[in-house]
Amino acid sequence: MFWYADSTTEVFQVNSKNKIAIGRPEAIVIGAGVAGLASSIRLSAKGYKVRVFESRAEPGGKIGEIRSNGFRFDAGPSLFTMPELVDELFDLANSHEHDSFEYIQLDEICRYFYEDGTRLTAGANVKDFARQAEEATGVDSTRVLKHLKKSQFIYETTGFIFLERSLHKLKSYLSLKVLVSMLKLPFLGISKSMHQANQHGLQNDKMAQLFNRYATYNGSNPYIAPGVLNIIPHLEFGKGAFFPKGGMISIRNALFKLAVSMGVEFQFNTLVSEIVVEDKKAVGVKVEDEFYPSIHVVCNMDVFYAYSKLLPNFNLSARRKQQERSSSAIIFYWGVEIERPELGLHNILFTKDSKREFEDLFCEKNLTVDPTIYINITSKLQQEDAPANCENWFVMVNAPSNEGQDWDAIIDRARETILQKINRVIGIDVREHILTEEILDPRTIDTKTMSYQGSLYGTSSNSKFSAFFRHPNFSKEIGNLYFCGGSVHPGGGIPLALSSAKIVDQLIPSAK
Ligand code: FAD
Repeated sequence: MFWYADSTTEVFQVNSKNKIAIGRPEAIVIGAGVAGLASSIRLSAKGYKVRVFESRAEPGGKIGEIRSNGFRFDAGPSLFTMPELVDELFDLANSHEHDSFEYIQLDEICRYFYEDGTRLTAGANVKDFARQAEEATGVDSTRVLKHLKKSQFIYETTGFIFLERSLHKLKSYLSLKVLVSMLKLPFLGISKSMHQANQHGLQNDKMAQLFNRYATYNGSNPYIAPGVLNIIPHLEFGKGAFFPKGGMISIRNALFKLAVSMGVEFQFNTLVSEIVVEDKKAVGVKVEDEFYPSIHVVCNMDVFYAYSKLLPNFNLSARRKQQERSSSAIIFYWGVEIERPELGLHNILFTKDSKREFEDLFCEKNLTVDPTIYINITSKLQQEDAPANCENWFVMVNAPSNEGQDWDAIIDRARETILQKINRVIGIDVREHILTEEILDPRTIDTKTMSYQGSLYGTSSNSKFSAFFRHPNFSKEIGNLYFCGGSVHPGGGIPLALSSAKIVDQLIPSAK
């Protein structure tokens, strides 16, 4: 076991055999994913003595880093939105460490490539984007602007209900603002699927495909997911896309450093094996046979595994067990001896058959024959992420959640398909230029971060009621037990995981 503790907080005494609790750590967090880190900071700011148990050797969970032969890759998330949720943590802590976490707003959001040669770059300036979209795809630019306004309207009407508060507490609904928003729900496209809303609003297949892609930001299928998910483009176009200096790993590094500076204690390489419940209250956790008492337990482990592995006498409700998992991914981390000016930081090479791609993903549970490819190249902004004349390509295709498919065969097929598609669409045979390769797939996403079936975002949003069926941020059966992270309300992705920690914070009383 490795202990990382601030010198001012001596809670444990070590004898020759075991660590014995002599003080009472008042809050325990299971898992140091981004939501676990945020929860630890929030609880510490509330006056609790906080201990975080993390099964891996380092914090961050899905936010990780790979270094290989002079290349640096962000292993998991690559797109940073809503940085204010990170800023808020520094403000809460009243910390001067804030200055060490820097990020820039991107002028260019994403470059899109279609099989027929159409290319379109989405920039932060929406008027320019709409004009360029009209030139590239023939869409009426005023429709694009109107569609983005609608996305903003959805955000302003529903964001504070669905993203910022518990949906499972009556008091969340008892305000005039919420009531007025509820009355507006019929105008938000909840009766349409995302795809229907996009097709209806834009009247253009290519642009509908571009906007449908936002369903994948929480691992969902735009042909089924409700139109209200068209809130997501506003997060990128309205609130902005960002890049943290040093890469996405800087988010993890900054939050970990902040937590430590506040006295949060981290114990790595430590798997929590049980949440101990007495008289219907969580009273601590077990690591192997050792009991660690606490007043509150916040669980950042995937909620599905939390019930099956840590709460042997409690069951996830049948309805929640049956909820469809979000999609997973196959990622190739390629260090390539190439410099391609037509590619930017974020690039999408669209499938020819979008409907089939999502059917294969969610119904057939297979990789489609012509998947949409996402290429992220941080060395475009940070040259030090790749050696001279080289680039660090994070190449990802959406994959179904792991249900025991023959992943080795699927990965071989994906590699070949991707290489051929890049050659077709960008005009280069990357195969000849790959200097280093690492691979992540649904199996390894599951084992590395304990995400059930390797889903990137917990459960999908492929139902109108997904938001309500997602597990709440607290346990209704067990007092003093709370849940944060991408597998519970409000859902997956860094901003929502950070929001989950904020909601947990609203539910736990101050210790001061
Ligand atoms: P996780 O990152 O899931 O971490 C949970 C932690 O808990 C892990 O470290 C695990 O080891 C630990 N743990 C679990 N059980 C135990 C236990 N019993 N004892 C001790 N420790 C335990 N999001 C975006 O916003 N933008 C993106 O561009 C984006 N792209 C992504 C690409 C990929 C390839 C992946 C994998 C994810 C992506 N996401 C993206 C999603 C985002 O990374 C996640 O939603 C978010 O990081 C989840 O954070 P979390 O707090 O839920 O915890």
